[in-house]
Amino acid sequence: MYIFHRKADLIQWRKQLDGSAPIGFVPTMGALHAGHISLIHMALQQCQYVVASVFVNPTQFNNPEDLEKYPRDAARDIEMLTLAGCHALYIPEVSDIYDSNDNYAFDLGNIGQVFEGPLRPGHFDGVVNVCKRLFDIVSPTDVYFGQKDFQQCAVIRKMILHYRLKMHFHRCPIIREPDGLAMSSRNVRLNTSERKLASKLYECMSSAVKDVYNYTPEQICEKLFDQISGYPEFSIEYISVVDTLDLKPATHWSWETVLLVTCKLGSIRLLDNIIIPAK
Ligand code: AMP
Repeated sequence: MYIFHRKADLIQWRKQLDGSAPIGFVPTMGALHAGHISLIHMALQQCQYVVASVFVNPTQFNNPEDLEKYPRDAARDIEMLTLAGCHALYIPEVSDIYDSNDNYAFDLGNIGQVFEGPLRPGHFDGVVNVCKRLFDIVSPTDVYFGQKDFQQCAVIRKMILHYRLKMHFHRCPIIREPDGLAMSSRNVRLNTSERKLASKLYECMSSAVKDVYNYTPEQICEKLFDQISGYPEFSIEYISVVDTLDLKPATHWSWETVLLVTCKLGSIRLLDNIIIPAK
């Protein structure tokens, strides 16, 4: 696997590839786990070359403590990406990405105003800024993002349309631990008892969506709220069923929707979701 620390070197390498070859790109913040690697595998199935990036993007952190405590392990990331068969890794310093004052943030409309938008002010502006810069450097034909960060998928889709970027967007399924907890780099910060309890979230979600079409979206949210409330250690931030494209509240099951949940367990935020296909 080629490892590039400077964008100039990556751009040089990219230039000599066959111009018609599909190039898949998987942006990450490192501390990789099987969820990230599933994106690499998906990209490898569909593209001739796969590029990953590992970059803890400071502009998307609204909480300095979260940025400071974000897990980092470049050596292990390199090992995992090499084993997975990734062709190239871009692992830059902040100055290599943010070498200009360009601001790519734009009005995301409803997508930016709900859920993580108000809870993490500036977060999606940071995501848009880093992804636009990364996309410009890598010039991929296909980009791969995890359903785990559902709102981020909606943001990136909108960004691709806004900037008329010529690339296909792929939403990849959530990879879970054996007990159902959605894999996340932040899970290592859960203590032993929190980690045990964390699996209850998906248990509650799975039970709430049983026979989903017999209930209204509002009733599903109420069911889930009641179930999670049985565990006082969880502090619910939001529960909602929304349209998968514009993230507006769903009132029926006529098209694809998603049940979004975020809870705090100790100091860690757990985000999870289940897609509900149209009836
Ligand atoms: P991150 O390093 O957290 O920024 O994540 C990089 C990419 O991996 C994002 O597109 C995430 O949505 C995706 N991802 C994170 N966790 C998972 C998971 N458990 N399953 C699938 N994809 C994931």
